[in-house]
Amino acid sequence: MSNRVSYKEPAPIINKENPFESMMERFDTASKVLGLDEGIYKYLKSPSKQVITSIPVIMDDGRIEVFEGYRIIHNSILGPSKGGIRYAPDISLDEVKALAAWMTWKCAIVNIPFGGAKGAIKCDPAKLSTHELERLTRRFTANLLDVFGPERDIPAPDMNTNDQTMAWIMDTYSMHSKRSVTAVVTGKPMILGGSQGRREATGRGVMIVSIAALQKLGIKPNTATAVVQGFGNVGSVAASLLYEQKVKIIGLSDINGAIYNPEGFIMPQVLDYVEKNKSLINFPDAEVISNEELLGLECDLLVPAAREDQITSKNASNLKCKIIAEGANGPTTAKADSILQEKGILVIPDIIANAGGVTVSYFEWVQDRMGFFWTLERVNRRLDRMMREAFVNVYKTAAKYDVSLRIGAYILAIDKVAKTLKIRGIYA
Ligand code: NAD
Repeated sequence: MSNRVSYKEPAPIINKENPFESMMERFDTASKVLGLDEGIYKYLKSPSKQVITSIPVIMDDGRIEVFEGYRIIHNSILGPSKGGIRYAPDISLDEVKALAAWMTWKCAIVNIPFGGAKGAIKCDPAKLSTHELERLTRRFTANLLDVFGPERDIPAPDMNTNDQTMAWIMDTYSMHSKRSVTAVVTGKPMILGGSQGRREATGRGVMIVSIAALQKLGIKPNTATAVVQGFGNVGSVAASLLYEQKVKIIGLSDINGAIYNPEGFIMPQVLDYVEKNKSLINFPDAEVISNEELLGLECDLLVPAAREDQITSKNASNLKCKIIAEGANGPTTAKADSILQEKGILVIPDIIANAGGVTVSYFEWVQDRMGFFWTLERVNRRLDRMMREAFVNVYKTAAKYDVSLRIGAYILAIDKVAKTLKIRGIYA
């Protein structure tokens, strides 16, 4: 009997447009195209370690509250596991598991020696004081002292966590280690061993792969138009750097709405305006449009950089762009993939398009371990090289298997991890 993956009819899924189920669906497709051995398939689907921990915290009013925390190591075949920690009231273990797997594929694609992980604490950070957040973070770290470590598992910021959270984790871990261990987390403040260029790295990576894709289609950046959804860390940096490359930015949006100017926005003016007004809305010389209208604008490049599930089976057929560069995680549902492919839209999937952040996190870890810090110019040059190489490798893989860039990216990642696993062998 063949030991290739046998694909049974998938069990009915309650919400087919769930981004994490979308991801697992693509993993299955890529494994099938690759002809992955069934045993390896099972191995790569299952996280290698799942920790659920209760975190008691003395609240400001003296009460004891107990929170639930998770750390999932998807695998560490390529190296220590890497992945963010998010604080969210509605997070589930399944979601963290899928996000951890996502990190494995991302690190493999950009060719950095890390496995994938993700962590979370079920809490509503808006309802916690700074002191409560600090105690929560420190106790979570103490509970996971045997999991974290610069050679084992390296957290980073994610939704509702930031450089201050990383500083608390680093300090708690260091107190127990009786020495300063900066490399135990990335995304730290600069003063504590953070890296130049880390804040802009994800948006910069989006710009790099977007320009590479425009070139593939024979479009010169100075003749191209772009629309960017979301104006936070990723969207604002991507839009500004594309503008620096002479791409005309004709549409922008944030949670309050979208703006359109066919003549193109002058990005430094937009950044100044948002700095003062905290929103894009009412920016002068722009037409206010809806989010749906924004996504349907005719343009060369669309960058969804807000959140998941924005391009779905309901609106994919209205899109009029040539390229989509997924700045956000999971902005396109699996159902929308085939519609976009039929329309001939080139989609640069999230697992490569937004991997600039984890790449510079890797640089931060390397610099901390060397105790020698790089200039911004060196960080950006290395990021540029690694993102371009990753894009070329994904492109070649997609062409070889005659699949979309998304499935090509998964194939590249799964193949790399599977080959490494075969050489290492299964420890008995
Ligand atoms: P952010 O919170 O800084 O910004 C999010 C932006 O999206 C804000 O401008 C917000 O107003 C806007 N927004 C939210 N909902 C919207 C909606 N429905 N329509 C239009 N705009 C909306 O977040 P970020 O760090 O820029 O992350 C954005 C996405 O990129 C997320 O999916 C995140 O997981 C992903 N990502 C971020 C990084 C990173 O380094 N920051 C790395 C990899 C992936």
